[in-house]
Amino acid sequence: MTVTLQETAPVLEVRAVTKTYGTGDTAVRALRGVSLTVRHGDYVAIMGASGSGKSTLMNILGCLDIPTDGTYHVDGTDVGVLDERQLSILRNRKIGFVFQSFNLIPRMSALANVELPLAYGGVGAAVRRRRALAALDQVGLSDRVHHEPNELSGGQQQRVAIARALVTAPSLLLADEPTGNLDTASTTEVLRIMDGLNASGRTIVLITHEDDVASHAKRVVRLVDGQVVEDRRQAEVEDPPPRHFEQAGYFGDEPGHPGGGAGR
Ligand code: ADP
Ligand code: MG
Repeated sequence: MTVTLQETAPVLEVRAVTKTYGTGDTAVRALRGVSLTVRHGDYVAIMGASGSGKSTLMNILGCLDIPTDGTYHVDGTDVGVLDERQLSILRNRKIGFVFQSFNLIPRMSALANVELPLAYGGVGAAVRRRRALAALDQVGLSDRVHHEPNELSGGQQQRVAIARALVTAPSLLLADEPTGNLDTASTTEVLRIMDGLNASGRTIVLITHEDDVASHAKRVVRLVDGQVVEDRRQAEVEDPPPRHFEQAGYFGDEPGHPGGGAGR
């Protein structure tokens, strides 16, 4: 996967998407006509109060659920025409997920957790290991690769989850309240990593209800009752990304970052 797609299709294109749960009197219209285009290299915070439809939208963006109506394209592919198997391939190749609850597998090392999406993708053992180590290096955890989740702090666990999301070199990093379970120091660390990843060209969509978190993004989309009520660009964060993003060369298949060779 290279970024030659950059000038063609947007990473995400959501058109007039609705989502209704249930039917009749008990139907809940969680999304009521959402349209959203996200291009390569963008950093978008989706904000809204509890119940406004953020997780519903995330599930659709992540191809974990399908809209009731409307269309959704990922890298130019119409998600609506794919069967379950094709959807799971698309998810594995194109989307890296980060959840509030980390979702790491207990009693498996950080390294094994990060290797998992590559194992599902059929990548051989040696390449898997090399890429997982590079991803863990990207999040500053080279000295914790053999630790299991319960031997890591919350912030470190979320960094492992970010490495796992990155290891397939996805088109999109999709994070639902990634700092929701973290203390202030860990939140800062995780956001610095996200900022650095975006500075290296990653496209990020982050869902949050916190202004402090959203202030890291380049663009803020606000949902109220399942509709976009605001979509604005904001000034960039002043903090430079941590040094290791410039050095690691993990993003070897992207312009301006030669020599990394993430391998395939
Ligand atoms: P947020 O993540 O912003 O809190 P959600 O997307 O989780 O919002 O929920 C939007 C609305 O849809 C809420 O009214 C919620 O109760 C409802 N909802 C979410 N998931 C389901 C579901 N699986 N079945 C029925 N209603 C749901
Ligand atoms: Mg939610």
